[in-house]
Amino acid sequence: MQELNIVAKSSGDNLDSPRISTDSDELNLLGKVYIESYGCQMNFADSEVVTSILLDKGYGTTSNIHDADTILLNTCAIRDNAEQKIRHRLQSFKAIKSKKPKVVIGILGCMAERLKNQLLEEEKLVDLVAGPDAYRDLPNLLDQIENGQKAINVFLSKEETYGNIAPVRLHSNGVSAFVSIMRGCDNMCSFCVVPFTRGRERSRDLESILNECSDLFNKGYREITLLGQNVDSYRWLNPITNELVTFDKLIGYAAEINSDLRIRFSTSHPKDITNDVLHAMAKYPNICKNIHLPAQSGSNRILELMNRTYTREWYLERIDSIRSILGDRCGISHDIIAGFCSESDQDHQDTLNLLESVIFDFGYMFTYSERPGTPAAKKYKDDVQPDIKAKRLQEIIDLQRKHSGIRNKQMIGSIQRILVEGNSKKSSLHHYGKTDNYKVVVFEKGTEKIGSYVNVKITGCTTGTLLGELI
Ligand code: SAM
Ligand code: SF4
Repeated sequence: MQELNIVAKSSGDNLDSPRISTDSDELNLLGKVYIESYGCQMNFADSEVVTSILLDKGYGTTSNIHDADTILLNTCAIRDNAEQKIRHRLQSFKAIKSKKPKVVIGILGCMAERLKNQLLEEEKLVDLVAGPDAYRDLPNLLDQIENGQKAINVFLSKEETYGNIAPVRLHSNGVSAFVSIMRGCDNMCSFCVVPFTRGRERSRDLESILNECSDLFNKGYREITLLGQNVDSYRWLNPITNELVTFDKLIGYAAEINSDLRIRFSTSHPKDITNDVLHAMAKYPNICKNIHLPAQSGSNRILELMNRTYTREWYLERIDSIRSILGDRCGISHDIIAGFCSESDQDHQDTLNLLESVIFDFGYMFTYSERPGTPAAKKYKDDVQPDIKAKRLQEIIDLQRKHSGIRNKQMIGSIQRILVEGNSKKSSLHHYGKTDNYKVVVFEKGTEKIGSYVNVKITGCTTGTLLGELI
């Protein structure tokens, strides 16, 4: 009965953007839904939950926007340009709505939660607004619209984890999948809108997480990324055994499902990543040696204004622990914000210097974008001029590019176990896959199947990709 499509548009945070569709001819009693997802991995995972909820109620989904009865945009609010992109996209729906006035247009996710009723007032095309904790209510909201009303639910829950919903895999190559382990965030970094759009932090029950992972493995998936805004603060108390399951234990349990199942996770917070987590990573060969550890800045003054609750020295000590427990080949990536309120040239130099001290494998880099209602917007002035922000960002990107090249070159000559993920985009004669430390490797095909492991000798690299030969 499914005719599935999710168009994936990552705002550059953390995701490749595959486009996946499957079609069927069956009749969809309640109409067809088309979904576009924007932003972080959590949003992509949420669209899979939304699809599951709607299919369960008898809706179908379609890959053809012109064929849809309902168009949903799962949105991001992390930076202003993410919201502008959605506003722009909405304008392009005018023609669809004028040809087909009954088509329902809905905004889901963080932008829905941030703007609430304002979205319905400002964007006349929009019929439905649903925040990240309101997806179980979507069928009711769609019913309300059927009765001629606009519909909104932006209630934030303290308990909702969608634990019992089996996501319909949409953003997947059949080898790698995301599994949400928690929702929300309690950290209140001063620049960040997430605590306001995704609410309080809550952890999903262990059993449903492990069941989802085992099910994925049985269906042929070989890599799972456990997702949360701050995975290291995962905590779940088993009501039967009274065992407190912390993140280090959770990754151990997930790794024990099968040694051929790779476990990854994102995102770690420098204040929370413990040596227990690092030791669990060292103990299990199938927990991948790669850590995304956003730094945000290398200046202690700025880190304090950001309310990151760690210092540059603390951050560097965590890097030292990662390298001493997991070795030099553990991949480490960062997020950096350029041009936060009052950032001086010296603060910026401190950030460049942090990058030089660590030599990260990879980074996601942004200019500061003030978000209304956040502590930074209330307390500090967004006073770094746009041209200075852009210049500093470019310097950070250039340095990171150089460091990624250095790290990639260090891999040349080594033999890596690769999980084969698919055909190379550039050549049908080549496969691509990832190393344990999250580097993409392209190599000439042999007889291996997608989803299998192969050993590859690394023979060369570009700044973004390793080149290899099967051995
Ligand atoms: N929870 C994760 C953490 O703390 O590292 C990341 C969440 S956020 C979706 C991803 C990244 O967006 C952050 O690490 C930060 O670098 C960036 N970001 C968040 N708010 C921002 C803002 N107002 N302006 C620019 N970048 C921002
Ligand atoms: Fe935002 Fe900070 Fe929470 Fe990450 S940890 S989601 S940056 S408040």
